[in-house]
Amino acid sequence: MTLAQGRPYLAIPGPSVMPDRVLQAMHRPAPNIYEGALEEMVEGVIPDLKSVARTSGRVAIYIANGHGAWEAALANIAVDGARVLMPATGRFGHGWAEMARGLGIGVEMIDFGRAAPIDPSRVEETLRADLSSGRAPITAVIASHVDTSTSILNDIKALRAAIDAAGHPALLMVDCIASLACDRFEMDDWGVDVMVAASQKGLMVPPGLSFVFYSGKAEAVRADVPRVSHYWDWTPRGAAQMFYQYFGGTAPTHHLYGLREALDMLAEEGLENVWSRHRTLARSIWAAAQAWGQGGPLHLNVADPALRSSAVTALGLGGKDGLRLRKWCEANTGVTLGIGLGMDTPEDPNSEGFFRIGHMGHLNPHMILGMLGSVQSGFTALDIPFGTGGLEAAIAVIAEVAKAPASSAGGGQCCG
Ligand SMILES: *Cc1c(COP(=O)(O)O)cnc(C)c1O
Repeated sequence: MTLAQGRPYLAIPGPSVMPDRVLQAMHRPAPNIYEGALEEMVEGVIPDLKSVARTSGRVAIYIANGHGAWEAALANIAVDGARVLMPATGRFGHGWAEMARGLGIGVEMIDFGRAAPIDPSRVEETLRADLSSGRAPITAVIASHVDTSTSILNDIKALRAAIDAAGHPALLMVDCIASLACDRFEMDDWGVDVMVAASQKGLMVPPGLSFVFYSGKAEAVRADVPRVSHYWDWTPRGAAQMFYQYFGGTAPTHHLYGLREALDMLAEEGLENVWSRHRTLARSIWAAAQAWGQGGPLHLNVADPALRSSAVTALGLGGKDGLRLRKWCEANTGVTLGIGLGMDTPEDPNSEGFFRIGHMGHLNPHMILGMLGSVQSGFTALDIPFGTGGLEAAIAVIAEVAKAPASSAGGGQCCG
């Protein structure tokens, strides 16, 4: 017998929970892709996307997942002899670097391991050495804002400061696939030249759309790239003269309806409120984990809360208990936890001692507290020891924040 009826919570770090409003917006007949309402809608989607990214630059939309945006971003800066510097803080950093190698771009890697953030001073040092190497300078520093495997949150503003301190001309390119509309991100203020994102995480839309935002400085680099495959070229997409150019062909009609609705939801709540809701929900998860860890093997992968993402949390139990817990929760409670990814320690080569909680997008306290209750039920059922007071600690975080006077920008969103 399973109790897992009712609404499931897919608590993995993408795809995230899709709001009913988004699903309902997508449930309609196909529109005319040559003129009319769809075209008008896209004209409005572009500025709204840019406001979520906090940029006045351009955006190219791709019918692709995040990997597609990774490739698109790199293809547009692949000048002859291009090299990128990747300060990696987990599996996703290595993945983007791998993609660069596949495009013939040289990769300099600084590996910060699986539980530490980028150290900007090491980046500065490497860039200074690069400038005195006599070679053409590194084209771009590419980095994850949040590495979804480790749940490390990197300080992108400090990374830009390091590039500037070295007096280096490199572009700053940032992967915000996990973090956009979850963790605060300020593309223009932080001096980011290229940012990649995807639809299925903080943007609450099914997988299948991705975005490359780019600055004037990045456009200038693009102008020196001898060839960009026409499909990945951001130029026609980011400055479309004809409607079909936005998408290099047929528009992803239904994803666009979903995206339109999701952008409306974000605007109704207010981006500042969206970020602070994510922070509160994340803090409640960490409070529970902290208490559980007092009396058992559970530990948060990232020790310092200031270095943890508000979108995803990686946790370790050891042995195969991450796997056992995930299977138990999915079978018995309707909560699907994320797999451990890229933690690959000698004792845990498949990361089965780890699991991740995705807490991005369309979430509220009852979902988070229900998920935490499910996890604690799993500990109990599986005889995994844990400290007491976890749920109470999570509740205290929620209650404390909810006691504060309600913000006026909130839309009082119901969960449908
Ligand atoms: C999810 C994710 C990706 C990969 O996105 P896909 O849509 O699975 O291709 C890349 N980087 C980060 C940080 C992610 O969270």
